[in-house]
Amino acid sequence: MRCPFCGAEDTKVIDSRLVAGGDQIRRRRECQTCTERFSTYETAELMLPKIIKQNEVRQPFDEDKLRSGILRALEKRPVSVEQIETTVGHIKHSLISTGEREVSSIRVGEAVMEHLRQLDHVAYVRFASVYRSFEDLNEFRQEIDKLSAEQSE
Ligand SMILES: [Zn+2]
Repeated sequence: MRCPFCGAEDTKVIDSRLVAGGDQIRRRRECQTCTERFSTYETAELMLPKIIKQNEVRQPFDEDKLRSGILRALEKRPVSVEQIETTVGHIKHSLISTGEREVSSIRVGEAVMEHLRQLDHVAYVRFASVYRSFEDLNEFRQEIDKLSAEQSE
């Protein structure tokens, strides 16, 4: 792997460890020429299903889009980057394990909600309110009541 600082070809792995709940390997590398250090991340390439949008258009699965939706819902919430990556990994895994070549965007949204619900209730409500665009405020309140009931269990 070429050094991103000086372009030298000789870089050495000085540490590697599993991150994102074991779905990624992070390698620390050191350039033998300029001694700068940097990280590389290795992830298994798996077939993710195509996403069927509500207008029937098929799109490739977009991990960045998924992550940015989750990040937006988690804004200012006490959740670590590591937990977010683990969640993204779990959602991808759940999509891969459907074994389907195409899944509806609704199903992806449901998977995100299911995982956010376990991760952070506020983020879950934020995401769900945007995603489902609750038909009325009453429905929204019911959802919040359900959550507070669960939390006080
Ligand atoms: Zn270098």
